[in-house]
Amino acid sequence: MERTFIAVKPDGVQRGLIGEIIKRFETRGFRLVASKFMKASEDFMKTHYLDLKDMPFYAGLCKYMSSGPVFAMVWEGQNIVKLVRMMLGETNPADSKPGSIRGDLCINIGRNIIHGSDTLENAKREVGLWFKAEEFVEYTPCTQPFLYE
Ligand code: UDP
Ligand code: MG
Repeated sequence: MERTFIAVKPDGVQRGLIGEIIKRFETRGFRLVASKFMKASEDFMKTHYLDLKDMPFYAGLCKYMSSGPVFAMVWEGQNIVKLVRMMLGETNPADSKPGSIRGDLCINIGRNIIHGSDTLENAKREVGLWFKAEEFVEYTPCTQPFLYE
């Protein structure tokens, strides 16, 4: 099983899309293992997006991501990092196919409503950055035999 970090960005929160976004991961069969509603600081977002520090949009992105609340989550499932990235669509909603989250719910690259880790290595880093060990909820899901052979 893999875990990935997903966040509904401030634009997604303001537009009332938290429920719609959670629903897609729930109905796919993934398992929620941690979540919190919070406002991140600009410094925290700079650390989160450190690999983009040389990009022209980095400063504006970090400022925007800290301008309002985000809904941060960790989800678990087989091959989840890759599958969630497919569910998100492309970084630019204009290139995202209908059926994907960005292709269905947003228009502009700077307001693309959701973050999802892009590699397993980054997922581990981001999960550790956003969540402490005690924030994970341990439980036995009853659906596993019906989702996995
Ligand atoms: N972004 C932007 N302009 C760009 C490229 C990216 O504003 O030209 C923003 C966008 O919100 C994106 C985030 O920066 O989601 C992180 O960029 P990345 O390339 O990691 O895209 P993602 O992994 O979110 O698809
Ligand atoms: Mg990224």
